Amino acid sequence: MAQDYDAIIIGSGFGGAVTACRLSEKGYKVLILERGRRWGRPGRPPDPPGNPRTNYPREPGDPWLWDDNAPEFLNGWFDLRFYPTMAVAQGAGVGGGSLVYANVSVEAPRNGFDPVPGLPSWPREINHPELAPYYEKVVQTMNIQTLPAGQFTARTRLMQRSAAAVGQPERFKLVGLAVNFDPKLTIDPEAPLDRRPQPGTVFQPNAQGVDQGTCYLCGLCDIGCQVDARNTLDLNYIPWAEKHGAQVRPLHLVTNIEPMAGGYRVSYDVLKGGRRIPGSQTARIVIVSAGSLGSTTLLLRCRDETRSLPGLSPHLGKNWSSNGDFLTPAFYPGHISPGYGLTITSIIDYHDGAPGSPSYWIQDGGFPDLMATYLDKMKGKQAKALYAWLLFDALRKIQHDDVEQHVMPWFAQGVDASDGVMTLRRPWYFFGRRRLHISWDVTRSRPVFDAIIDKHKRFSEATGGRAEIPASWTFGKNLITPHPLGGCAMADTVANGVVDHAGEVFGYKNLYVADGALFPRAIGVNPSRTIAALAERVAKILIDRGR
Ligand SMILES: Cc1cc2nc3c(=O)[nH]c(=O)nc-3n(C[C@H](O)[C@H](O)[C@H](O)COP(=O)(O)OP(=O)(O)OC[C@H]3O[C@@H](n4cnc5c(N)ncnc54)[C@H](O)[C@@H]3O)c2cc1C
Ligand code: SF4
Repeated sequence: MAQDYDAIIIGSGFGGAVTACRLSEKGYKVLILERGRRWGRPGRPPDPPGNPRTNYPREPGDPWLWDDNAPEFLNGWFDLRFYPTMAVAQGAGVGGGSLVYANVSVEAPRNGFDPVPGLPSWPREINHPELAPYYEKVVQTMNIQTLPAGQFTARTRLMQRSAAAVGQPERFKLVGLAVNFDPKLTIDPEAPLDRRPQPGTVFQPNAQGVDQGTCYLCGLCDIGCQVDARNTLDLNYIPWAEKHGAQVRPLHLVTNIEPMAGGYRVSYDVLKGGRRIPGSQTARIVIVSAGSLGSTTLLLRCRDETRSLPGLSPHLGKNWSSNGDFLTPAFYPGHISPGYGLTITSIIDYHDGAPGSPSYWIQDGGFPDLMATYLDKMKGKQAKALYAWLLFDALRKIQHDDVEQHVMPWFAQGVDASDGVMTLRRPWYFFGRRRLHISWDVTRSRPVFDAIIDKHKRFSEATGGRAEIPASWTFGKNLITPHPLGGCAMADTVANGVVDHAGEVFGYKNLYVADGALFPRAIGVNPSRTIAALAERVAKILIDRGR
């Protein structure tokens, strides 16, 4: 039976955009179904027909948030969810998490795929040399580079001083950034910052033919770049896929996948004017790329609710990880200006310990000043709670009028125990639709978090700052992560995973997963480049097999 498409790709983040691009380049007829909107800066040239665009949110009344329970009403930029001991932040829109990310693009540590006693294993085919050519493709497509020497922020310098102050200067390194720089630009972090787009900004076509400007360090990365200096997926992989015929349908929330003769039927709700309008399309191949939470939720519903894919592995939902993300605010007498310049610029690397010892690195963090200004204006309990999360309990410690300028948000990622479990559960009142639930317990991950906190304190003390461990951690062992990983783990067998090393679902030919859900365990560094490299590999094997 003829299918509507060769491949339907669900989600347009680092997994979906990459696979869509590579398949359409090879002539596959590709459809991308994306639950979120198409976003962009004012003035960006129009997207293909049928893709109306929303400007990046900026004002209090703008569509900031995504509500997973009522996306037909609230389908904004950030999807922020709270589970008992863990909150998860994700992007929603064409380009997925790249829309909101801090542009950091790095490889997994050299030992990141080695077997470690007590931790889930990667399939034997996945290792650093195997991923090397795919990492390189991502570097080329996303134009990864490091911060030019004349553009170090106060936080970059503090990172460098901290490593030197504890006698380990060699552990300080600049990170790979998916950003276009003007190497001739030099900055004075003490000088007042003009956040408006500079009138002289030059826009030049990138390798995919899309016009981009260069970074002027306005610090707004996580809420969208006003000159398109960030190399987000909607500026490279996705337009390249579209040039090769791929269709993108924003505001299409996929609800089910059902096998049929010669392929699958994918059902979705179109989110329009406060309504959900059901529809479906068919394809020979389906690639689930809705992210760790999105892909796992969809497949759990297909296995346990609609029972359209009853043979999915019992391992589905297991090995979930927060990627060891931790954040400690430190207060300094002088200005640190976390809203000045790129969100993250550098690392102090501790991924070289003995096998089984805590493996992690420390990063400089930042946040857009605009966000602080906006949240300041908000009233009410929920807004205060959000403020406390985002500004790291700073409200309790105000000693300066411009307290946020004195905060160094120390970030970190580490290899945690990766033992979280995702399930579908009804809310406490026992009726209504079952929702995703994440059970996450810190016990087995304590050593890596303790090591991170120790370093955050040492670096602060050594450089004249005062680290304030968040109350949410001290009293509740609650964390927030922007790096959810796992749920549809890659594995050698169906007994310990959901898909094989090529991303194909055990028991379902031509049904693939390609996104952060694939990770059987944390890698302890920002994951986007590894997700994209794994997706490059999924696409290559699929094409080579003649699927
Ligand atoms: C604030 C923030 C900063 C970050 N900074 C960095 C960084 O600097 N470097 C880094 O490496 N990582 C960073 N990350 C993490 C990074 O964004 C994610 O790891 C990455 O985007 C995950 O890629 P993915 O393909 O697995 O999923 P995503 O990129 O999340 O893509 C999944 C897509 O599927 C869509 N979707 C979900 N469910 C459905 C459905 N049912 N139907 C249709 N579409 C659906 C979603 O809207 C989304 O577009 C950051 C994350 C956040 C929140
Ligand atoms: S700092 Fe500003 S100009 Fe530079 S990439 Fe981020 S948002 Fe764009």
